[in-house]
Amino acid sequence: MISHNLPQDNTCTNCGYVMNATTSVSENREQESPKEGDLSVCAGCGMISKFNQDCNLRPVTPEELVELHATDEDAYFLLMKVSKCLKSNDLNTVKP
Ligand SMILES: [Zn+2]
Repeated sequence: MISHNLPQDNTCTNCGYVMNATTSVSENREQESPKEGDLSVCAGCGMISKFNQDCNLRPVTPEELVELHATDEDAYFLLMKVSKCLKSNDLNTVKP
């Protein structure tokens, strides 16, 4: 996997984690830095976001996830798996 620095820091709207780089899980080794419409999973909390044209992240909508499931089921399940793994390691959750 290849990591790319983002042109500016992005702060997760859910947990406040500051992201300054991305790591693609795509099998496409030619993948460049993130582009508009690419999905991202917060390393801090597992929240799924989407890149806009300025390479900033916004929360993904439920409708967009339904559309992804309908058009690219493999990508959908990979996204859910990565999100679940990161949520289970949520460092922001204080466990009793
Ligand atoms: Zn987060």
